[in-house]
Amino acid sequence: MTPNKTLSNFTHLGLIAPLLARLTELEYQQPTPIQAQAIPVVLAGRDLIAGANTGSGKTAAFALPILQQIHTDKPLSTRGNYVTGLVLVPTRELAKQIADSIASYALHFNGDIKTLAVFGGVSINTQMLALRGGTDILVATPGRLIDLISTNAIKLNRVKTLVIDEADRMLSLGFSDEISALLALLPAKKQCLLFSATFPEQVKDLTQTLLNDPVEMQLQSSDASTLVQRVFTVNKGKKTALLAHLIKQHQWRQVLIFVNAKNHCNHLAAKLAKQGISAEVFHGDKSQGARSRVLNAFKAGDIDVLIATDIAARGLDIEKLPVVINFDLPRSPLDYMHRIGRSGRSGEVGLALSLIDHEDYHHFSIIEKKNKIRLEREQVPDFEADEVINEALITANKPIAKPEGSGKKHRRKAGTN
Ligand code: AMP
Repeated sequence: MTPNKTLSNFTHLGLIAPLLARLTELEYQQPTPIQAQAIPVVLAGRDLIAGANTGSGKTAAFALPILQQIHTDKPLSTRGNYVTGLVLVPTRELAKQIADSIASYALHFNGDIKTLAVFGGVSINTQMLALRGGTDILVATPGRLIDLISTNAIKLNRVKTLVIDEADRMLSLGFSDEISALLALLPAKKQCLLFSATFPEQVKDLTQTLLNDPVEMQLQSSDASTLVQRVFTVNKGKKTALLAHLIKQHQWRQVLIFVNAKNHCNHLAAKLAKQGISAEVFHGDKSQGARSRVLNAFKAGDIDVLIATDIAARGLDIEKLPVVINFDLPRSPLDYMHRIGRSGRSGEVGLALSLIDHEDYHHFSIIEKKNKIRLEREQVPDFEADEVINEALITANKPIAKPEGSGKKHRRKAGTN
């Protein structure tokens, strides 16, 4: 988190005292670049498109002005089963995380502003009960929101502000139909804020249909420079052994390992266990309670190794994650960026490591090309890739630049509705 040095603090941004007091308590001394730019724009009622990553402070960038608007309008609004501020997000973890942040920012409104998160994978009845009397701010995944609307638990026709967060992720997970259905239920006059790390065609189309004369801002994560990307070549049969060797040798703690399927999580955890490394798994087949427990334990540093599918790749606010490993390569170049974005946050130096065998090599080149990076292939002593692979690498290896810093759709995965 790199604050904007040009602004001394939040008071210049037009925020009211209860919010400023809370920011002081949270030790947010200076606005981040996205906060400095977006807060005045949102307070002025304008639509917004922001290119911003998780870790940029974007939650506060939209949450603070929305809370202020709701607080200011409050005497005029009656809730019924209506919602005033709607935040659409791709995953349940993100829904909970954002709702928690908003509730925290709203602390000094003394319960006047009600914030709820709704998402699939848990009982709908509890959420229906919680929605009784409406809510001021609702953070929702699209599938569950549609279910709740169909039971009349909530109505969207009085929404004043719509936030679409992680728009690229939402569309790449196959939520396009749900989003269209939801947009049709919103009033014509509303303020729209769209946040996305990347802008593929689908997102551009959405911005064109949804936004009215938006202010555009592009903010690359200021933490990118603290992220080191490396790629190790290895024979397929030795990948797990290499992984275990690296974890032990470097005594890595809080390492997040990505694989492509739920059963790979369990297999890899079992293999690591045989090497004396205990790992937990995080994927869509786990119950919501189990996922929360694992995630909290990982965040707290009680779990050293977490093996996850891509559901964990976006939006999760896991601070200061030192190492992210692609054990299986992500399907899309976009997912590569999302995965490695879990590391090197908050000014810490992070390592994003990919382990590739010869079957991965071509795909990794595509990932590099699309993301405009080129990484030197490295070998770990005693785990070198064999000659066949080396030849392939040497012939295919064009000039190598120092590392810096999307694509094929994969349909909605379990646990993201
Ligand atoms: P976000 O990108 O919204 O997920 O925020 C990433 C992390 O940065 C969260 O842990 C926030 O609490 C923290 N954060 C957001 N804004 C600031 C700020 N201005 N100063 C310090 N920390 C912040």
